[in-house]
Amino acid sequence: MNTVTHNLGFPRIGAQRELKKALETYWKGQIDDNQLLVTAQEIRTDNWLRQQKAGIGLIPVGDFALYDHILDMTALLGAIPQRFGSAGDDVSLDLYFAMARGTADQPAMEMTKWFNTNYHYIVPEFDDTTRFHLASDRLFREIEEAKALGVNAKAVLIGPLTYLYLGKEITPGFHRLNLLPRLLPVYREILQKIAALGVEWVQIDEPILALDLEQPWLDGFAEAYHTLPGNGCRLLLTTYFGTVAHHLALLKNLPVDGLHIDLISAPEQLETFLTADLSAKTLSLSCIDGRNIWCADLSQKLETLSHVSSRFAGELWVAPGCSLLHCPVDLALETKLEPEIRNWLAFSAQKLEEIATLGHGLSQGKESVREELAVSDQARQSRQTSCRIHNPVVHHRLDKLTERDSQRAHPFAKRKLLQKQRFNLPLLPTTTIGSFPQTAAIRQARAGFKRNELSHLEYLSAMREEIREIIHKQEEIGLDVLVHGEPERNDMMEYFGEQLWGYAFTENGWVQSYGSRCVKPPILYGDVYRPEAMTVEWIKYAQSQTGKPVKGMLTGPVTMLFWSFVRDDQPRSTTALQLALAIRDEVTDLENAGIGMIQIDEPAFREGLPLRKQDWQPYLDWAVKAFRVASSGANDETQIHTHMCYSEFHDILPAIAELDADVITIETSRSRMELLDAFVKFSYPNEIGPGVYDIHSPRVPDTSEMLELLIKASCHIDPSLLWVNPDCGLKTRSWPETRTALQKMVSCAKTLRSTLQT
Ligand code: GLN
Ligand code: ZN
Repeated sequence: MNTVTHNLGFPRIGAQRELKKALETYWKGQIDDNQLLVTAQEIRTDNWLRQQKAGIGLIPVGDFALYDHILDMTALLGAIPQRFGSAGDDVSLDLYFAMARGTADQPAMEMTKWFNTNYHYIVPEFDDTTRFHLASDRLFREIEEAKALGVNAKAVLIGPLTYLYLGKEITPGFHRLNLLPRLLPVYREILQKIAALGVEWVQIDEPILALDLEQPWLDGFAEAYHTLPGNGCRLLLTTYFGTVAHHLALLKNLPVDGLHIDLISAPEQLETFLTADLSAKTLSLSCIDGRNIWCADLSQKLETLSHVSSRFAGELWVAPGCSLLHCPVDLALETKLEPEIRNWLAFSAQKLEEIATLGHGLSQGKESVREELAVSDQARQSRQTSCRIHNPVVHHRLDKLTERDSQRAHPFAKRKLLQKQRFNLPLLPTTTIGSFPQTAAIRQARAGFKRNELSHLEYLSAMREEIREIIHKQEEIGLDVLVHGEPERNDMMEYFGEQLWGYAFTENGWVQSYGSRCVKPPILYGDVYRPEAMTVEWIKYAQSQTGKPVKGMLTGPVTMLFWSFVRDDQPRSTTALQLALAIRDEVTDLENAGIGMIQIDEPAFREGLPLRKQDWQPYLDWAVKAFRVASSGANDETQIHTHMCYSEFHDILPAIAELDADVITIETSRSRMELLDAFVKFSYPNEIGPGVYDIHSPRVPDTSEMLELLIKASCHIDPSLLWVNPDCGLKTRSWPETRTALQKMVSCAKTLRSTLQT
């Protein structure tokens, strides 16, 4: 039997972020559309030929996007929001980028997280006037392009239900599922055009099947997939990011030709699909993790596959769990990684080879891939035993953790009194979230130090000077609780990761976050250990410059976990606890240095939330525990702050309260404090600082706007629990606007303070 290997999608940013660079120069007007499109075509060609060369049988076409693949579907389907004023024509490049990035008179379309990944897609906008028509020939041109290169193309489309589900209604009372009957004819037309180009298979992605779906959506699947087949192509219904076993009855009856299920995020679903009668559908199984960077255990994967193939009568395909979009492009570009660590890793290019090996092994027998299996076995063994990874000291500490370690000495009410006596803050204390503008001078000093152009002493004094100025500026503005401003941090993750054992950093390990924005998550490969204090000297210096309290600033264990590529050889909960212990030690050191307030940032707290509600609690339990272990070593008189931003919090408020931070500062101004209703309904017990202005725009808000928000907050929340602060850190802003905005914020607090006190 010949096993078909295929891929679900390849990173589109280019091995050296060529797409990012081309987009950004295009937006600045330094290159024209033609130059941009040539770069895009070069990346596609490179991607396809890489896959072909690696021996992948069916190669995805249509997975490329200049900005985002959901926006590309919006363009293909002609679902252009009316506010962009396009009269049903084809989508030009200008219109495409207008939707993605906004124009002088239209804000961009909203952007949100792609399931539980760190990728963000452009949210389709729907209302009753939404009409669909084929409005872009991009997909068909790319198919022709691939065919001309001799690529065995499989077309990739986002399925109609997922497309509608991921969008949002812009008029109340309208339901987007009502658009399905209007949408399906365009899908049929697309499929017919794909078939006419000689493409046999279409990968139709319906990842929403991994969510909890209400009945009307499930009925929508039945409706759609009884009309989409029979248009000339064979359909591979593709799911990922979680189990779809709960939809077995539906899936097995859909007249599609194949089904892709993800065994990486949900290995347990294999049995369900093997024992079900899939009515002669092709079964595509994922064996390679598309979202993490570890080499696969090929021997074990091959064994599973061989076992499956002996039990499954139909055709069996092999693929990664999801698109490789979430992985860096090529490990070959890493020259500085420790060779031992490097041996454990596989980026997208290496993952293609792993898939090819599995396909080969399955069709030609284990012997035919003996060498590849031996390399894989060796990597696995080395990871199991390496002393770079396994640190008995860390294990011992983890074993000794008890319930007491995740509890402060006394409940909040008592701590509040002690802290009140210690700090004697006014009503509605004002503060900021941590970072202040990262000026050119700061960046230069950091870069110079990294390149050894600045001695340690020179760097230290440059940073101290910055901190001193930042402290004085805050005193001038009249803030009550100060920060050191984070000038020494390039990034809130990297700064800590670089000082902890167990972390490695890559040179080119970029993944797309949205549009041209890429991130380079560090690799958390081993037991986490903090050899020495990471922040104390900076904070201590800042505190020495002022009589007002300075907050120490730490990145929390949950955020450290989710913004890294994490270990797959132990549960994430264990890794989170290791990180928590490192932060806990830092809290103790800060405390011993006389720092009275410590903020532990957790902006990524929600990121690990499982897709299905029934799985939420176990995650929230261990995430809360990690935060509590990190913070609970603090004395009652030490005030623990936390900060969260830019995600939904209203449905996880009980867990946020469980963190038992003395103060939470939280982003709210974009939703005009709607979140506050949720806090009130739940009756959040501790102190809270809802952000009174959005830091994402250079626009300085009016005093009246801020005051209005603040008054609203004080009507909802007991003023004795209320803090006044911006939404998030100020590192992307400039000083003049920051100063004006904060001055206004302080004066608002004073105004309200005096009315409340009279
Ligand atoms: N303390 C960090 C800062 O101010 C918090 C950043 C964040 O929430 N992402 O920059
Ligand atoms: Zn923030």
